[in-house]
Order: sequence, then C-alpha cells, then structure tokens
Amino acid sequence: MGKEGSKKILAVPSVRRGNGSGHLHRMLHLAAEHPRRVSLFLDRTGKLTPGPTINLKPYEEFIRSEIDFRQLQKESWSYILLDQRETPVSLLAGLKELIPGTPVAAVDEGGKHRKSLEYLIDTLPSLRRQECNLFKPDLNPRPLRRSLYYNCPLKFEKVLISFGGEDPRGLTLPTLIALGKIPFLSRTSITVAAGPAFRELSLPSDIEILRAPGNLREYLSDYDCLITSYGLTALEALAAGIPVVTVNPSRYHSRLAKKTGLLVCGTGKPDAGRLKRALENPRKLIGRCALAEENLRDTADADPSPAELSPSASVCPGCGAAPGRVLGRFPERTFYRCASCTLVYQQRWIPDSTVYNHAYFFDEYKRQYGKSYLDDFAHIRSMGRERLRNIRIENSDPSLLDVGCAYGPFLEAAREAGFRIEGLEPSKEAARWAEEHLGCRVSPMGLEEFVRKNPQKKWDVVTLWYVIEHFPDLESALQQLSGMVKPGGMLALGTPNGAGISARRNLKKFLAASPADHYTILSPKSVKRLLKQKGFRVEKMRIPGMHRERFPVLFRILWPFTAGIARLLRLGDTFEVYARRMDRERKDNSREG
Ligand SMILES: [Zn+2]
Repeated sequence: MGKEGSKKILAVPSVRRGNGSGHLHRMLHLAAEHPRRVSLFLDRTGKLTPGPTINLKPYEEFIRSEIDFRQLQKESWSYILLDQRETPVSLLAGLKELIPGTPVAAVDEGGKHRKSLEYLIDTLPSLRRQECNLFKPDLNPRPLRRSLYYNCPLKFEKVLISFGGEDPRGLTLPTLIALGKIPFLSRTSITVAAGPAFRELSLPSDIEILRAPGNLREYLSDYDCLITSYGLTALEALAAGIPVVTVNPSRYHSRLAKKTGLLVCGTGKPDAGRLKRALENPRKLIGRCALAEENLRDTADADPSPAELSPSASVCPGCGAAPGRVLGRFPERTFYRCASCTLVYQQRWIPDSTVYNHAYFFDEYKRQYGKSYLDDFAHIRSMGRERLRNIRIENSDPSLLDVGCAYGPFLEAAREAGFRIEGLEPSKEAARWAEEHLGCRVSPMGLEEFVRKNPQKKWDVVTLWYVIEHFPDLESALQQLSGMVKPGGMLALGTPNGAGISARRNLKKFLAASPADHYTILSPKSVKRLLKQKGFRVEKMRIPGMHRERFPVLFRILWPFTAGIARLLRLGDTFEVYARRMDRERKDNSREG
C-alpha cells in the first residue's frame, strides 16, 4: 500500500431509494478499510438530494465517522468522493457551495457530470471506451466466504434470486413464475434474498426467504447458482465462485452483462426458455462464469486505491479559472484545457515525486535521450549559440540569468556571445559543478527562494530552457520572472509544444508521455497571451526542430519537406519564445485591467 495523504476524504454514497444499497455498501467498506482517512456524509435529511432515503437502520452499526452538515465546513477535505451512479445536480452544487475549491472524484458515475468531473473511478466494465482515470473492480468488497472454486454440481439444487436491496423493477415475482415452469427445478430449491429495503411481496409460502442480509455477499457461497441483475451482486457472486444468470431491468444493463461475459436471460422481464436452457447445463454456465471472473481479475492491477489519492487544486495555473474541458484521464492525473486562457495543464492526483538531483540529470535524461546530460553538453551549448542569435540587447555590457541552468551549457554559450552570466539551479550538485567549471555565480535554489533573496535585482536577459513547464504555479512564476527583466530587456524560453504535431496526431498518447513534473503544456498561442498579460511582447517564435525518429517512415523519407511544412505551421514538438518587456505598454495594460 502506498502513502496516504493527511487530509480526509469525504465519501458521499447515494442513499436515495431507487439507487439500491450498493453505493452505501461500497463506501462503508472503504471507510472500514481506511477509518482515519475516510469520513462518510449521508444526506439523511434529503436537503441536497431530494427524494426518499433508503432505510438506514440495518446499516447503523457499520456507519462510523459520519459527518453532518455543520461538520462539513469545519474540516478541510482532501477531496470529495461521490458514489451516486448519477450525481444529482443539486448535490454537486450544494457540496461545491459548502466546501468550495475541494476537488471531486466519482465512482461509477453515469450522469451528466461524468465528462466534467475531475476524476472518475469505474468499478464495473463500461460500454464506453476506457475514459475513466481508474478502473478498479476490486473497489467492490470481495466476499470472504467463497465456494470451493466452482464445485460443479450435476444439477443446481440451491438457487438464489436477488434483485438488489430494493428490486425497483419488480423482477422477483416474474422470475419465480418462470422458474416454476422448469420441470427439473423443485420449488424447495429456490431462495429469495430480501434486502433491507425490500418491499413486502406476496411470495408463495413454500419459497424460502433469506431476510435482510446486510452483507449478502457472505451468504452467496451457500448457494450453487444466483439469478440477479447486472451489478455489484453479480460480480460478487463471480468473486465467490458462484455461477450467475442475469435478468436485467434495462437494455443498458443487459449490454453491460454481455460485455462482462455474463449470460442474459431476459431484459425487462425474465425469458423462461433461456432460464431453462441456462440452468439445465451447470457445467457450461460455470465455465462461462469462471472465464468472466478471470477477465475481471486481470484488469484489477497495481493502480492506486482511492485512499492514496491526494489531489492538487484543479484551477488553471495560468489564470486561476475553474477547470475547463478534460483532455485526458490517467490514474495519477487529469489534464485540462483552460477555457479562458487555452493553457493545457495537469491536476496531479498522486503528487509528483521528481527530485532534481544527480539521478534526474543522468538516469532520467539518459532514459529519454539516450545519453547523459553531460555527454550532451557540447550539443546543448551549440543549440544555445543558435538561441542567442534571437536575443538582441542595446546595452553594451548585457547581463543574463539562466533559470534552471543545470550544468551550464547555455551559460557557456552566452558568455562566448559577450554576456555577463549568472545561473540559478535547484540541483545543488549541478549548481556547484557549473559554478566551478564556468567560474560564474550559480545559486543553488529554486526561483521563489531566489526572488525572495534578490528582490530588487534585474537582468537584461532572463532565459528558461525547458524549465517553465516545471512550475506548478505558472502564474506566480511568470509574475516573478517579469519582475526580474529590465525594461526593454528580454525573456526567452523553450518548452514542449501542446499544439505540435505529436499532440495533434494522438493527444492521448502525447499527454500520457508528458513527464510527471511538467505541470503545464504551453502552445505558441497560450504563451503569447500569458506573456502579454505580464507586459511582454513576443518578438519571435521559433520551432527548433522535431524528433525525426518519432515519425512514420514515409515522413522520414520526405523529411526536409515534412519538417519545413511543420515549421511553417508551427507544428514542432517544442518551441521557443523571445519576448521583450514593454514598459510603455505596461501602463496601457494596467488601465485595461
Ligand atoms: Zn487559464
């Protein structure tokens, strides 16, 4: 198990009648596993989720660390975990008003919020393409009592019928009637599970009733076959080694059942013929269910548990706007495109643990580029010479600060070009190395600390080569940087291109490959806008070249042509920006703002 954050998770299961009790079960299970980390909020009063509540009495002894409306606002929450199937608009709006700014994740969300919620956890196979952050079938509690793995009876003798805590579609009675027509099945072999919220039915008197089992899953292994709708109980039966036949309330459920590999014997009402055929051949049914269970288990891998998630804020790091369109979902992060400033950024759900040390410049760099940073020194220095051609300064003795200078190849090129050089580098080892080899000042610290220690200092040129994307708070980094450039001086940076050809060709693949410590992905368009707000005018955008090896063979053969077109269209995978600090324009900007 990984590290758990310190702040608590607010779990909000549906307790509305009509949604079944599976949501409550799942969150009770999670809270029991992580009692210090998870608190439950049950909307008993119906203030946020109008409609009747299920009978909670049978669950009271399992409900611990429940939070009420007053306590909601007293604590500061790591995130809200909704388990609603379809989150009511009123519930989401109400929670956002009570505890604003708290990130929201949802389990098995199928409602209108699905696409916009910050994090999605699916526990059931979905009909849609995998578009959740996390697929976790094992979030559903597994039965402790299991059958001796698919004991194969010649004949089913103990059949259990369970249509959830409530049976909202009234499938129990018609299923009983259909089973009554099967000659080889005796009535005494049938049991009906009546969940806590089960409505009283006029069941035939000789049918056995399993009354209000708070955790039905532990009773499943007492039977040799289960008839149920597609849902949690069906998957629990598979996990318990009990063959399952489904009769589903809707076509949606039937399609999901088929996708999971389960047999469907009726949609809307039971199909007597199919039920008969399914039950007369136990061996066949068992084989089918064993395969379905194996497929499910294979998908539950080493992904994080909800208790390990510890999200950062989802607001845009460029302009502070509320999260825009979700671009990509991954277990450890969600990507957005800001609706107001077009910046692409990630919200981390598992905090990034990158440390800028020796291993970063050697092992990590080597992994990405095939050689260590120092092996690449001469090459980076020559790229630096090219970059310096785009920097024009009137001053006869210009000063230059390279932020995130690493081992200093760009600084060396800048000194050759006549600049008074200075570096800033959070890796102490790299900073010391650069200082000794270049004989210039290199401060071993991050930008924020540096600005705090040198509040008044300004340079003619401030550069950041593949550094800007590493700041979690881009807005404040740009604010600090703009204060470090002399009026008329230049800010130059290079960064991966979120509008480049790789991003356009396959965005999901591009985002998946984006390093964990790249918090923002800029584009020529978004960087221009952000720099303008800080009083800069972009003088030059440069697409320095593309990674030829990433392209299909035909493109490589036509390379000069491809690269030329891509440059023309600004489709390169990285780009450089050269911007000048405009003092007169700053006044105009402040009047606008
Ligand atoms: Zn923005």
